[in-house]
Amino acid sequence: MNLPNPIFIISGASGAGKGTLIKGVMENHPEFQLTTSATTRPRRPSDGPNDYYFLTDEEFQKRIDDGEFVEWAQYAGNKYGTLKSELESKSKLGPVLLEIEIQGAAQIKKSGVAHTSIFVAPPSMDELERRLRERKSDSEEAISKRLATAKEEMRAAPLYDHVIINDTIPEAVGELEKIVSSYVR
Ligand code: 5GP
Repeated sequence: MNLPNPIFIISGASGAGKGTLIKGVMENHPEFQLTTSATTRPRRPSDGPNDYYFLTDEEFQKRIDDGEFVEWAQYAGNKYGTLKSELESKSKLGPVLLEIEIQGAAQIKKSGVAHTSIFVAPPSMDELERRLRERKSDSEEAISKRLATAKEEMRAAPLYDHVIINDTIPEAVGELEKIVSSYVR
């Protein structure tokens, strides 16, 4: 793959605030590119038009079989993945942010693609639960599933190059900005 600009992987439990932090950084640095992932999960009302490529199970499977993903993972009952073509085209435009979960991050590490990894953690599990409920976008069952997964995911934090505790948003945005800026000329 031809990746001329720095690649940043950002992971963390859903509800930890990755999306908000990324949005904050991109507002100040429009040169940064966020990859659009493919997923089999149903669209949520809160999803923006460029948040995901929504695929059927069959469409997703065909892309796996054809080797089109740089990484993909099963998460909370659905598949999510980054297409090689997406990563390459975004990398031509500027530094790239990938918002992906920990299994995908591990695959990229294994693949040898040079990158910097950042883990976003909530201040506590109670706070994470409160944030997931506040979002009102998932069923009770989905929330329980996500919380259990979040506990597992926290164990991967030490494998990342940087860890940000998202206590207050402006501070955490500042921290993420400082990290990514230090790798970009
Ligand atoms: P959500 O359903 O809340 O949008 O995303 C659920 C989880 O999937 C989040 O942790 C998110 O970072 C992760 N995710 C989104 N896109 C990708 C992707 O392309 N690959 C992987 N491995 N995870 C992804």
